[in-house]
Amino acid sequence: MTHNHTVYTNSLTRHGNSMLYIAKEGNEKFLYVFDKGEAYGALDGDIIALPGGNAKRCSLTNANAAIMRQLFPFTNPISHKGRSFTIGLGDRLGLASPGHLRLVKDMDVFPVLAQQSIRELNLTGRTYDDVLSAAVWAVFQEGYRKGYGADGDHLKTHAEVKMALDCGFTMITLDCSEHLRNDAAALGDTQIDSLYGSLDAAVTKPLESEYLGKTIKLDEGAEIAFLGTILKKIILVYLGAVQHIVSVYNELLRGRNVDLEVSVDETAFTTSPEAHYFISSELQKAGVEIVSLAPRFCGEFQKGIDYRGDVNEFAKEFVIHAKIAKKMGYKLSIHSGSDKFAVFPVIYKETDRVVHLKTAGTNWLEALRVIAVKKPELFRELHKFALNRLQEAKKHYHITENAAAIPDINTLCDSELSSLLDQNDARQVLHVTYGEMLLAKNPDGTAVYKDAIYEALNKYESDYYSALGSHINRHIL
Ligand code: ZN
Repeated sequence: MTHNHTVYTNSLTRHGNSMLYIAKEGNEKFLYVFDKGEAYGALDGDIIALPGGNAKRCSLTNANAAIMRQLFPFTNPISHKGRSFTIGLGDRLGLASPGHLRLVKDMDVFPVLAQQSIRELNLTGRTYDDVLSAAVWAVFQEGYRKGYGADGDHLKTHAEVKMALDCGFTMITLDCSEHLRNDAAALGDTQIDSLYGSLDAAVTKPLESEYLGKTIKLDEGAEIAFLGTILKKIILVYLGAVQHIVSVYNELLRGRNVDLEVSVDETAFTTSPEAHYFISSELQKAGVEIVSLAPRFCGEFQKGIDYRGDVNEFAKEFVIHAKIAKKMGYKLSIHSGSDKFAVFPVIYKETDRVVHLKTAGTNWLEALRVIAVKKPELFRELHKFALNRLQEAKKHYHITENAAAIPDINTLCDSELSSLLDQNDARQVLHVTYGEMLLAKNPDGTAVYKDAIYEALNKYESDYYSALGSHINRHIL
């Protein structure tokens, strides 16, 4: 019997008496284990005859990934405390991480390979076990041993944080948006005064004596001051978020080697430097150790497109945020960091590359770019479907696309299809409709597009890896 498979040579690894590698057979990958030993016994698979002798051929399942994590400690995610430049590389399909590793393996960059929000889990039909297992297999396939992280992204509740921790995630991004008083953010001075008056004085008096009229000195002569109603508004809007963070930390994170990121970015209003300092100072007082904080910056960080707004204005505010983070001992985190080329120079300069950058959707768009080139018929269907389902998708994502500006795909020849991935409106539409595409079902319950998407990307895997490499490389200055 002949057995054709292509070995990922970087995966060749010994464990005791056993030799292991990952190889591709047709369009599917397996782990092969040779020679009896602990690994051979522990991993689940079937026995097949190969020219080199019998081997156990194991599917890349979550159960086998869990065993791999015990056999090979380097496949476990780790904390990135103390690492200066870290990058979140969300992999919604579970196929992109090897491409990311090929890019960062020789760079001073710590990758957070597994990074998904609950929203993304729901829209891709995956679990945190699936997400982490994909990273484990990617790390083993590429023989990558420099460490990676796993981020439970935009988690909101104690239960969500606990679920991610139970799966072995090493970073928690705590989304405080449900504990921010959005109503107060928009109020004028008199309304703020009366609303503030209804708060418990036993809580507000100590905060006033601590902050009111105080000037905080930052690097290079910069300073921020808590004057007049600024403090009242900050207390109204952010105190609930601080209390939520302290509660989650004390219950689930204190004493664990987990990287906590605080996110206040998913709001309609920008985070002022004063508010940023208040949050971080209150957390410090409560003994909450954070690794990063994601403010909502001025301008717009929309999905899949460049920064929208006044870059000079952004730079002015960003400098202060960076100085606060430095003073307080953590990093700024840039959410929706995909494709924000206009502001990367400011971000890297002002943070000295001590920063966390999150990307996700752009990796999906690169997948579509490969499909546009290699499977034009499939791409045409996906594009039309995306346009049809745009309103559904916009329930989950805020974008300001102008669908009318997208060229009619019927007027484009196959070789022009990938140009849609360079057109902002099309990018946004294709970016936010991934869930619609992946979850679409035929009447008989089978997937409409999902299997074809996976098949194409598995077949043109090396094209996908190099597309990811060159695109993400543009994010790392
Ligand atoms: Zn965010």
